[in-house]
Amino acid sequence: MAKHTIVLIPGDGIGPEVMGATRRVLQEAGLSVEWVELPAGAAAIEQGHDNVLPQRTLAAITAHKVALKGPITTPVGKGFTSVNVQLRKRLNLYAAVRPVRSVVGVKTRYENVDLIIVRENTEGLYSGIENEVVPGVVTSLKVATELACTRIARYAFRFATRRHRKKITVFHKANIMKMSDGIFINAARRIHEEEYPNIEYEELIIDAGCMRLVQDPTRFDLLLMENLYGDLVSDLCAGLVGGLGVVPGSNIGDDAAVFEAVHGSAPDIAGKNIANPLALIMSGVMMLQHIGEEGIAQRVQSAYEAILKEGKSLTRDLGGSASTTDFAEAIIARMK
Ligand code: NAD
Repeated sequence: MAKHTIVLIPGDGIGPEVMGATRRVLQEAGLSVEWVELPAGAAAIEQGHDNVLPQRTLAAITAHKVALKGPITTPVGKGFTSVNVQLRKRLNLYAAVRPVRSVVGVKTRYENVDLIIVRENTEGLYSGIENEVVPGVVTSLKVATELACTRIARYAFRFATRRHRKKITVFHKANIMKMSDGIFINAARRIHEEEYPNIEYEELIIDAGCMRLVQDPTRFDLLLMENLYGDLVSDLCAGLVGGLGVVPGSNIGDDAAVFEAVHGSAPDIAGKNIANPLALIMSGVMMLQHIGEEGIAQRVQSAYEAILKEGKSLTRDLGGSASTTDFAEAIIARMK
């Protein structure tokens, strides 16, 4: 019997390709796993489900507590509510954790970047509450609750403590959104003062924060933000270390965790076997650490670091010409 049961959602676009590569790498690294493969998004409808987020998929994640997920396309400006947003809300995966690190062998303008973004994942402008007041006038509601703001602040400080991080910076716009961003920074201040005074704490208005990030990302350690800011700043930070192909992510709740790359379904390169599977493999490493398989996580990480350092089997986004499968096979060969 396999040691772990993990839900696997291939997703769409480049999802099935990068997931195929990741699954092989994790298994070849020695992970004893039974994958419970289930659909979400357009793939769910294609497979005969009546919903983009089938009850069976949700129930399996609740039962097994861990899932590895490929990207899922969200129609722009119409169609169904983002499956990603629904999943995070329905399972109460309130913390998105995205480590952004300089990758050996991936040359960018910056060196020694090592920061973590903790993003509130359940409310803000992602509440999807939009109305047409009169034709030509719409509103979009930004929701901030003391409960969710306190929960994410406490998560960030606890995470910083566990991972020996020294400083938390909150990006906000409380000068304009005095109430919604106000409640967010007040919660963070309170948790800092009452529970974690030993961790350095600072607040920056997000526009100035973004400027400082591109001037010198190494001055930051852990960034804490509400939902939309976290989404935007995650991609900005990915750009500092080589792009979306090299940044992993996780969505964590008290009862379940879903691991996924920061990038989307990349329809422009889907089906060509050229997508970089590294971000999902890195997310897989985060998942291995989460389930207590530190040894296997280290094996995979050392192998991909060696491949990147050699610089031979890189995918196109990193300046090479290797295919998705070539890259995965190079990692597997390295682990032997
Ligand atoms: P994207 O991340 O899919 O692509 C942005 C750019 O980065 C594209 O040029 C793409 O080719 C490139 N890229 C992305 N991942 C790559 C990889 N692994 N290897 C090489 N190049 C890669 O962003 P987008 O185009 O804005 O979004 C496409 C769709 O994905 C949208 O429907 C969006 O809603 C969805 N999306 C889903 C998730 C998720 O499932 N978690 C996250 C972000 C976006």
